[in-house]
Amino acid sequence: MHVNAYAASSATSPLEPTTIERRQVGPADVLIDIAYAGICHSDIHTIRGEWGEVPYPLTVGHEIVGTVAEVGSDVTKHAVGDRVGVGCMVNSCRECENCRAGEEQYCLNGNIGTYGAIDRDGTVTQGGYSQKIVVDQDFVLRVPESIPYEAAAPLLCAGITTYSPLNHWNAGPGKKVAIVGLGGLGHMAVKIAHAMGAEVTVLSQTLSKKDDGLKMGADHYFATSDPETFRTLKNTFDLIVNTVSAPLDLKQYLGTLTLDGTMVNVGAPPEPLPIQVFTLFTNRRSFAGSSIGGIRETQEMLDFCAEKGIAPEVEVIPASAINDAYERVLKSDVRYRFVIDAATLA
Ligand code: NAP
Ligand code: ZN
Ligand code: ZN
Repeated sequence: MHVNAYAASSATSPLEPTTIERRQVGPADVLIDIAYAGICHSDIHTIRGEWGEVPYPLTVGHEIVGTVAEVGSDVTKHAVGDRVGVGCMVNSCRECENCRAGEEQYCLNGNIGTYGAIDRDGTVTQGGYSQKIVVDQDFVLRVPESIPYEAAAPLLCAGITTYSPLNHWNAGPGKKVAIVGLGGLGHMAVKIAHAMGAEVTVLSQTLSKKDDGLKMGADHYFATSDPETFRTLKNTFDLIVNTVSAPLDLKQYLGTLTLDGTMVNVGAPPEPLPIQVFTLFTNRRSFAGSSIGGIRETQEMLDFCAEKGIAPEVEVIPASAINDAYERVLKSDVRYRFVIDAATLA
């Protein structure tokens, strides 16, 4: 079936209206009428070729919410009319050790990304800036009705990518957690870490978003452009979640970790990040990475956000504004996630 979408045909061309092909609904498949799709900075890194070769033309978008329109004959997990979501992956091998552990994002045979990956039928997967998507039921999430529809989409990437490391490294009461960068991922990290009970500090380039950060649940807020910040915060944090899309001077940030503290990078700049190992020797510090989260943990995150009454702050845009929104994201001018209204693709 042909559906309307936005796609780019090269690393330097804007996204433009087009149509893409969706497969027929198979026995285990769910057809979703997409309502909203978030704009993740990863969409921009990808479509501009910053992370490597791209199978153009490509439709990106891996923060998808919508309503089930049709289900295959074997589908038991979802029903027509359900509010559902799809995140960064649409399949995995399901047999390797990591898949069996519920960590499909770390599938040893490679998970199948929502866009730009080779699907089992040999076609290239196409993302959520589109009207409809067909996904295997096991990679479709239930989106609680209490989460506002237009705000739910960013949970499928920004939500799980920050929930997973916060959960894994035990953010909670008595823990001092720093979030670097108050963008799409960062603002969800602040809300989730606060809801988990941690003492939360935002490290942003300037103080321009301080009031917002404190309203989201941060206890402290510092500007990284002020050298005094790193002196004040030396040996402070148990956990740092770095959401910044560009390279940082890691030494300064690692210096703020206390004994056995961990800095987790979820930000994904294309450039390598140099580390001076002596900075890790002090306080037995760790530097780690984390990629999205498994399906079970993503469902847990959605239910957690519903229970705690937290949701992303979004600016809903028509599809025609995608290219302008990209420019604003690149200028850190996002409050705090752009979400495309899929009705404007019609
Ligand atoms: P975003 O909305 O653009 O937020 C990034 C924030 O980083 C900005 O709001 C800004 O915060 C800060 N920042 C940007 N440029 C900076 C610079 N040159 N120096 C210092 N700080 C800077 O992006 P996002 O969608 O949250 O994504 C963030 C990163 O995570 C991207 O690289 C993305 O690809 C990656 N990502 C990784 C995963 C994963 O699984 N690991 C999943 C999703 C996304 P302030 O204005 O507060 O300084
Ligand atoms: Zn993403
Ligand atoms: Zn696997």
